[in-house]
Amino acid sequence: MEFEQFCNLLPKIELHAHLNGSLSAFSLQKLGCSNEQISEYQQLADLQATEKTLNECFKLFKVAHSATKNQQSVYLATKYVIEDFFNENVAYLELRTTPREEQNMTKADYIESVIRAIKDCDKNIIVKLLLSIDRSDDLKCEENLELIIKMRQKYPNVIKGVDFSGNPYNGTFDPKLFQKARNCGLFITLHCAEIKNDEEVEEILKFRPDRIGHGTFLHPNFGGNDSIWKLYLDTNIPLECCLTSNVACGTAKSYKQHHLQEWIKNSLPFTLCTDDKGVFGTNLSKELGLAYQYFSLTPTNLWEMTQKTVSYTFASDEEKKVLTKILQDWKVKNHF
Ligand code: 5GP
Repeated sequence: MEFEQFCNLLPKIELHAHLNGSLSAFSLQKLGCSNEQISEYQQLADLQATEKTLNECFKLFKVAHSATKNQQSVYLATKYVIEDFFNENVAYLELRTTPREEQNMTKADYIESVIRAIKDCDKNIIVKLLLSIDRSDDLKCEENLELIIKMRQKYPNVIKGVDFSGNPYNGTFDPKLFQKARNCGLFITLHCAEIKNDEEVEEILKFRPDRIGHGTFLHPNFGGNDSIWKLYLDTNIPLECCLTSNVACGTAKSYKQHHLQEWIKNSLPFTLCTDDKGVFGTNLSKELGLAYQYFSLTPTNLWEMTQKTVSYTFASDEEKKVLTKILQDWKVKNHF
């Protein structure tokens, strides 16, 4: 089997995908974005990594947000994104999104629309929902969490966790807030060390989230420091690694100089993810291909990484067994 075909056909697990950032230009078109908006989106998405900054990347989300302002468009957006992941053989998807209020839609309506699309999905893919707390919406974090907890009680099999995201230059991590979420049975995944902010990173690691996203400025060779890295090693928290996103936002210098190399070298837990595949023009199969190209991860390494990722998911034990079997059967069928 050709390597590209391997990456596409492997039953994959995606743990870090933001709903609105995952919308393709084609989906945005179907959701009513004008040609002008689409070309702005694509022009920005096509810019060379060095021309972009994290702040510029954040501007791109406005395009998708302008196309998902009511319940029907949120429903359709969720449906399209799930279908796109399914079409590249993602077997398990944890989709995350920030509940958003618009003129004719409450945050609860937003969540209901996403859940309706997940429940209506008739494809062979397991989909779970993580609800994001936007760090730049500081004043509403508490209120947002209350809503998430309420919705989780209503949909315990779909809503599995809480994410902390949004522009890392804004807001601060509040351990009390996430402890409350944890006490209510929610899993916690936190964007961590996307920019250099040692004080916050230390607090996040001491909190011991179930997973962290990006982890860019942790290792001393990548802007972290020895005590932060030691703290990370003590926790051994799985990393959601988003190669293309980090390179595109300029937080990693290049694919070759990406901090993932430290995880590989030290046999630390990680999984490859897309982050915002619409914004960054990628998909999970491509991310696997990049890990092969730049870090020499063989098909066997990538299969093993996917198998390990099963244990990092927020799925039930039963679902984990199903995923393990899918992967085992696929390996046997494809003789490797
Ligand atoms: P949404 O939550 O609206 O479905 O997806 C887009 C949102 O996810 C963005 O507005 C932003 O808050 C968050 N997001 C997407 N990608 C990133 C990222 O790379 N880093 C951080 N910190 N937040 C992100």
